[in-house]
Amino acid sequence: MSESESREWLGELDHPEYRLALAQFERAAARLRLDPNLAERLKSPQRTMTVSIPIRRDDGRVEIFRGYRVQHDSALGPFKGGIRYHPSVTLGETAALALRMTLKCSLTGLPFGGAKGGVRCDPKALSRNELQRLTRRYTAEIFPVIGPDLDIPAPDLGTNEQIMAWIMDTYSQQVGYAVPGIVTGKPISIGGSLGRQEATGRGLFVTILETMRHLNLPVSGSTAIIQGFGNVGQHAARMLSAHGIQVIGISDSKGAIYDTRGLDLTRLLAYKEKTRSVAGFPGADAVSSEELLERPCTVLIPAALAGAIHIKNAGRLQCRILAEGANGPTDLDADVLLNDRGIFVIPDILANAGGVIVSYFEWVQDLQNYFWKEKEIQDRLTEVITQAFHRVLDRSLSEKVDMRLAAMMAGIERVASAHLVRGLYP
Ligand code: NAD
Repeated sequence: MSESESREWLGELDHPEYRLALAQFERAAARLRLDPNLAERLKSPQRTMTVSIPIRRDDGRVEIFRGYRVQHDSALGPFKGGIRYHPSVTLGETAALALRMTLKCSLTGLPFGGAKGGVRCDPKALSRNELQRLTRRYTAEIFPVIGPDLDIPAPDLGTNEQIMAWIMDTYSQQVGYAVPGIVTGKPISIGGSLGRQEATGRGLFVTILETMRHLNLPVSGSTAIIQGFGNVGQHAARMLSAHGIQVIGISDSKGAIYDTRGLDLTRLLAYKEKTRSVAGFPGADAVSSEELLERPCTVLIPAALAGAIHIKNAGRLQCRILAEGANGPTDLDADVLLNDRGIFVIPDILANAGGVIVSYFEWVQDLQNYFWKEKEIQDRLTEVITQAFHRVLDRSLSEKVDMRLAAMMAGIERVASAHLVRGLYP
């Protein structure tokens, strides 16, 4: 399909991220010789919902925000996927993330289909009360399509456990009783799971260590650079550093810092808490966020937004491993270049799957009203993600395909077999 035909076909879903997700999907579907009817089905989300969210601002004005929930595929189970609050949220971006969720859940063997939601807003520009009103009204608008057996949201970029608590409360108020299983990533006091907050970072950490083992890279003398110092970036940094991998560079939306002696994370977290950014951290060099990506390191972790690695900087990266904490951080051309250059890519649907794996554990605990110990959760997460890593690595080696292609193929295969055995309704 030409680019203009593809745009026309995509219609209201057209977005660079959706085109990237589709291109990656099509590459894997072609290699698998996937039934074309099924391929067409999986290229379109099962259900998309766009809502208007009117909220009263603190100054008395009423402002309308735009929100989305996209449910990509439910062949394997209820829909599952995070909610993003960011000024660039669109229907197409949300659909791309929902497609990735389907493949992520499938690849890691979870009984979920993929979904994603979002509200186009700048959460940092809203007061706590405004954020609460926005979240409650968004939840009320998507109420008909969510539920513990239907679609279970979770945090993503710009949302956190407080926002999940408001979603849980709003849903519970509507049905008249507490429904902890409606969201994951919520506070422990209302049915959250131990180990959920750090889960994406832990999954990244485990896949990075497995990769280093595979490549025979020693821990001693290894370094990491991280783009994004939010939920994913902070926990990954903490675990890598505790394991002896020096974190030498970190960026966030306001700037980047670099120190070859290794950053003191305890001091950095306290500094960020006070100033809301890592920028200006005393003792470290100030660099631009783009420059930081090109500094030498063992592991580079994009853990912020999509599109961080592109054709212009992929040739200049000086890392041995690219561990994709963010969703869709590498574009198609950059991917080819990274493979040619021998940079080992841990693809997003594998590298950042720790979050949804522990979300699955949280949901199971909520449904059973029986809660596990933290160690049990960490061990089970390590087991599930390590198995997925080796399934992908074995396939990549035996079929001589890159890790992304191997991961996409494994993800498509399981969901495809569920479709084929369930058949086409009616
Ligand atoms: P977050 O909101 O907690 O943190 C995002 C971080 O990125 C912040 O530090 C922000 O300042 C930084 N950032 C934004 N723009 C930047 C820029 N241009 N340069 C450098 N840094 C920038 O979000 P999060 O939950 O950590 O999610 C980060 C990424 O990981 C997203 O792509 C998300 O989809 C993905 N992800 C998150 C989870 C999860 O469980 N939270 C799970 C899977 C994938």
